[in-house]
Amino acid sequence: MEKNKTKRIVKIKDIYCNVCGKQIKVENGIVKEDVFEATKEWGYFSRRDLEVHRFNICESCYEEMIQKFKIPVEVLNKKEVM
Ligand SMILES: [Zn+2]
Repeated sequence: MEKNKTKRIVKIKDIYCNVCGKQIKVENGIVKEDVFEATKEWGYFSRRDLEVHRFNICESCYEEMIQKFKIPVEVLNKKEVM
């Protein structure tokens, strides 16, 4: 029995840094620049209950952002790239 005839075309849409508006390089569907991707589902005890927020931050904006933190980010070094 055939499962599903329709092919799923996964197309990476243009990615932009939400902070500075810079377009993130994508070549042949591969993201050529690393970005901070955030997805947050706000819950019941927030003022944004049921809202899902998504955004991307380029590396330089990310560096700027974390420099403003009172408590630095936790940095874990991976031994291998997964
Ligand atoms: Zn940026």
